[in-house]
Amino acid sequence: MAQIAVIGAGYVGLTTAACFSHLGHDVVCADIDEQRVAQLTRGEVPIVEAGLDAMVREGLEGGRLSFVVGAARAAAAAEFAYLCVPTPQGDDGSADLSYIESAAREIGPVLPSEAVVVNKSTVPVGSTRAVERVLGRDDVVVVSNPEFLREGSAVHDFLNPDRIVIGSDDQSAAVRVAALYIGVTAPIIVTDPASAETIKYASNAFLATKVSFVNAIAAVCEAVGADVKDVVLGMGYDKRIGHEFLKPGPGFGGSCFPKDSRALVHIADSAGYSFDLLQGVITVNEDQFQRVAAKVREMAGGSLVGVKVAVWGLTFKARTDDVRDSPALRIVSLLTEQGATVQAYDPAVKAPVDAVVPATDPYSVCEGADVLVVLTEWDDFRWLDFDKVADLMERPRVVDARNLLDKPALERRGFTYVGIGR
Ligand code: NAD
Repeated sequence: MAQIAVIGAGYVGLTTAACFSHLGHDVVCADIDEQRVAQLTRGEVPIVEAGLDAMVREGLEGGRLSFVVGAARAAAAAEFAYLCVPTPQGDDGSADLSYIESAAREIGPVLPSEAVVVNKSTVPVGSTRAVERVLGRDDVVVVSNPEFLREGSAVHDFLNPDRIVIGSDDQSAAVRVAALYIGVTAPIIVTDPASAETIKYASNAFLATKVSFVNAIAAVCEAVGADVKDVVLGMGYDKRIGHEFLKPGPGFGGSCFPKDSRALVHIADSAGYSFDLLQGVITVNEDQFQRVAAKVREMAGGSLVGVKVAVWGLTFKARTDDVRDSPALRIVSLLTEQGATVQAYDPAVKAPVDAVVPATDPYSVCEGADVLVVLTEWDDFRWLDFDKVADLMERPRVVDARNLLDKPALERRGFTYVGIGR
């Protein structure tokens, strides 16, 4: 079993640390956020992620998982150091590597000889080399091992991945990294660092493309009088297409797709290829936020000035508490810019985010509301008392940006219902 340092205790780092300790390794997980480290040391998991609490507690109680402040403290005895720090979008759309570089600078002087540094953060092509330069150690190898987990099912995805990708020019380092996934059954693709880094961006860009494609098809459906629900069903049974990611909605968001799509456009551009297709995907997505806001405006009678809007859902998708780059927040700000008053509820968001102060229950936001908008596909919303909702609202009108609710059932209760692409 290996000694692993995980640098960064966020969605990816904490999942990586907990799962590697579950697989039997000794893991020290570092963060710069002292409060987070203190919480985790007490066994309190600060994010909503199915199964993560239990796995963190299992690691702590078994003595195979600990949390420290500062990357250097974690790396001093590590055979492997996983970098799981943020790579946010820079001003020009490129990925900002400053967190990666500072983590590498911290661990460079203390890493034991023969250690392997692993980039798990999503990093542009060439970053493996960049980390090597910052580390300044010729006795340490840098390997790319991108992460494909989905928030909301991170633990499951880490332990049951579709594939494990390892990018290294050093075969023995690649084999050592592959061996860490003992007990995980998945195809392992060993390739060069540039290809591994590209696989991660290409995968996210392809999924974003599917989302924008189906949102564009939804717009066509609205224009020609087709029902997108049946259209995607008919498409999805084609095995070459598949059902996954063929759901129209308010646009893609979250901490990965928007920044990774932009970063890939930037990477391609810098290398001399104009990735117009992916640029189009981003434009369709930006338009989708506007399209949803326009549906609410139309529902309200053509103007949002003084209109009370009830919003259900703030997270970028269900089963997570993550609101980073959430389409819901983009749409809320478009609505308020146009004069609406918004009251929002989300089962996983309790603290204020941007200018939104979330309510504590889904009904209170409907009181006196002119339009209800569903922006996140939380299952909870399906099973609410819609007679009560209709009574509370000034007028029972719904814009269902997730096609989540039962349209005929709502119409029977007197609601005016508008979905996406139907
Ligand atoms: P996050 O913001 O949730 O967590 C990053 C953590 O790193 C934070 O807790 C931060 O305090 C810590 N940190 C920053 N600098 C540090 C340092 N020098 N030493 C120690 N800790 C430090 O980010 P995330 O969502 O886990 O994403 C991390 C990377 O993984 C990004 O590159 C992202 O693109 C990629 N990724 C994310 C997901 C996802 O679903 N969130 C999936 C696959 C890949």
